[in-house]
Amino acid sequence: MLPLPQLLAELVRRPSVNPMGRSDLPSEILYESHVTAFLEEQLRELGCEVTRQEVMPGRDNLVATYTPPTPAPFSVLFEAHQDTVPVDAMTVEPFGAKIEGGRMYGRGSCDVKAGGACMLTAFARLVKEKPPGSAAVTLAFTVDEEHTFLGVQDLMRSGVRADCAIVAEPTLLNIVNAHKGVVRWVLETSGRACHSSRPDQGVNAIYRMAWLLNGLEEYAIQLQNFAPDPVLGPRTLSVGRITGGVSPNTVPDFCRIDIDRRLVPGEHPQDALRNLEGYLKGYPGIDFVFALGQTHAACPPLNPAHSGQLVARLGAVIDSVVGKHTVHSVPFGTDASTVANAGVPAVVFGPGDIAQAHTKDEWIDLEQLEPAAEILFRFACGK
Ligand SMILES: [Zn+2]
Repeated sequence: MLPLPQLLAELVRRPSVNPMGRSDLPSEILYESHVTAFLEEQLRELGCEVTRQEVMPGRDNLVATYTPPTPAPFSVLFEAHQDTVPVDAMTVEPFGAKIEGGRMYGRGSCDVKAGGACMLTAFARLVKEKPPGSAAVTLAFTVDEEHTFLGVQDLMRSGVRADCAIVAEPTLLNIVNAHKGVVRWVLETSGRACHSSRPDQGVNAIYRMAWLLNGLEEYAIQLQNFAPDPVLGPRTLSVGRITGGVSPNTVPDFCRIDIDRRLVPGEHPQDALRNLEGYLKGYPGIDFVFALGQTHAACPPLNPAHSGQLVARLGAVIDSVVGKHTVHSVPFGTDASTVANAGVPAVVFGPGDIAQAHTKDEWIDLEQLEPAAEILFRFACGK
């Protein structure tokens, strides 16, 4: 296995941009396949069993397993995503992996190729050293975390399980045990188009949407009345985009809005959708048909109630390597909640600072790499 900075550089140099629904990006930088091929090669060189799971054409999860020679006292899943966000307006070479002042620059250097490289390094060390009493380890590199979380959903649907899981994201070597969930909905109204000089002959879909928007604003205020989650705060709803109509001189027959709903532990995306639909159907003035639906798979909330033991064990290992750690929540979604929802207690841990993720000069502090790999290795050793 390559030394950590070189391994990370190899990953950064291979673009794995998630287009996130856009169609204006150059195809040669899109999707995870180059990273997948490189990781597969590294894992095969270790001599371990590797399988690909096709999530979408040309986009595969990679799953490797380490089974220790003696019966494993426990099992752990290490999970990292392969994709990155796009590279528009970056002020550093996105795939250059340039090192300067103890930092490596490039898209994915922080989120989350560094975390993935540390997991691979710890895994390779286990395979080589076979320390007695170590865990059985599944190492999974998933696709599509930055957009619709499809990779981790397929991973868990495929039956991958463990006693606990560590999901890589930049946490500055601290533990993240809670975050809100997010679900996105689209709400559409239809009407009847006609010339704007005779609006009485048409039905205006934008006016209809206005009634719904009033209802949504009131609903969002009502959500604040629920007791907030003690750690994560209130459940929220926000309307983020509106489209509709074709020209000023046409009564619009179509309007659409996009809604973002943040869920707290205990809430379920489907229930939240049904609840809103019922509310809007009963809202004054809404005597017309509308369509409300989910645009893509939800990221559930990460509930800290199920990971207490894991947090204690990982925390002790972090302390043994770097002397201190914090346990906290974050405002963004991760793959950990989908893993946890499948019954595997999961936390988020990794090198680097989320403040540098997705930025125009994304970088990682290289000093975080070795401790991160050491922590993951020791955790798997049961130390
Ligand atoms: Zn990430």
